[in-house]
Amino acid sequence: MNGTEHSPLSANQVSAKIDAAVEQAAETLLEVSHAIHDKPELAFEEHFACGVLAKTLRDHNLSVATGVYSLETAFETTINSEQAGPTVAVLAEYDALPQIGHACGHNVIATSALGATLALDAVAAFLPGRVKLLGTPAEERGGGKELMARAGAFEGIDAALMIHPAGVNLATMPSICVAEVEVVYHGRSSHASAMPHKGINALDGLLLAYQAISNLRQHIRSTERIHGIVQEGGAAPNIVPDRTVGQFYVRAANEKELAALKPRVQACFEAGATGSGCTVEVNWAGVDYLDINTNWPLAERFRHYAEQLGREFIDDDQALKFGAGSTDMGNVSYRLPSIHPMLAVAPPNVVIHHPDFARWARSEKGDAAVIDGAKALAFTAAEYLLSPQLQRQCGAAFELSKGLA
Ligand SMILES: [Zn+2]
Ligand SMILES: [Zn+2]
Repeated sequence: MNGTEHSPLSANQVSAKIDAAVEQAAETLLEVSHAIHDKPELAFEEHFACGVLAKTLRDHNLSVATGVYSLETAFETTINSEQAGPTVAVLAEYDALPQIGHACGHNVIATSALGATLALDAVAAFLPGRVKLLGTPAEERGGGKELMARAGAFEGIDAALMIHPAGVNLATMPSICVAEVEVVYHGRSSHASAMPHKGINALDGLLLAYQAISNLRQHIRSTERIHGIVQEGGAAPNIVPDRTVGQFYVRAANEKELAALKPRVQACFEAGATGSGCTVEVNWAGVDYLDINTNWPLAERFRHYAEQLGREFIDDDQALKFGAGSTDMGNVSYRLPSIHPMLAVAPPNVVIHHPDFARWARSEKGDAAVIDGAKALAFTAAEYLLSPQLQRQCGAAFELSKGLA
């Protein structure tokens, strides 16, 4: 750590106290991690996870507000709320996926953030600033962090930190933007054999659009992705479907390219309606996920601390080999200096959103990432608060990135 001018303890002494506090809380952290893992909850429905995290904080004499910033399952706690100086936020995700549970390992995110917060609370007297733990629901869909940001969650925060589990250790997650869209085709029912000429086939509408999108894929950038499913395809083969529903994700490297791609996909949906004689509702989600604008001075400090804990990181230029995903942390990262490093909880060939990853998220390796994540997040947050030099570096890098966006 650098500056120690506000602290009566040396940076090393603060680090030692953080380390000891995480070790002391380890058993609780892993219990909470496993409890959240055992009870996977979908986006916006994370009542158990929100409750167990809030209870654990209250058991440690921290006051917690739940249902904050427009979301019922969001929460917030602040350390040193009366203290002047900068504010650093640690973010906790805790939603799961349909059918495959915690195959994105958000139980590890939640409890590493919890551990970092408990450790920073243990050294609160030595920190010249505030620490905020934000419980941020609905990462897998719905853009919870963007909704919270619009409700003011990130006002007054100078830097935001979180970790995400993976198959490797990475200083940041290779990421792209994503827009979610639901399409509903309306046709007219009829007997598919007796009166086919009276029917207007809503499945034809959706499949024509699906095929048009498949054709479009040949003529998009290698960084772009369009993928979807048929959610409702009809009730029986002898009933002409009068209603079908599809869900699609449209992804691009950055906001500008996403904005250019969306109308091309919209045109495919409309082509489906024209070709089949249906009508179509195209419901784009209110929130697009942005790519991550990594704050490298902060990411480098996180990597430094995680390496000290014995983790080996993949070179940044090799990171894309492990694929690019999307996160609503991207939206935060364009508002304030932010990091989203990845910590290995599984072998490199086990990818997130695969059912096998869910098992790794509560394995010994998953547990180790909770502890290492808590320590590295707390070390990084403490250094940020203790070092005006690091604050300046992070601020300058953020301003520069805005100029480049
Ligand atoms: Zn995730
Ligand atoms: Zn995920």
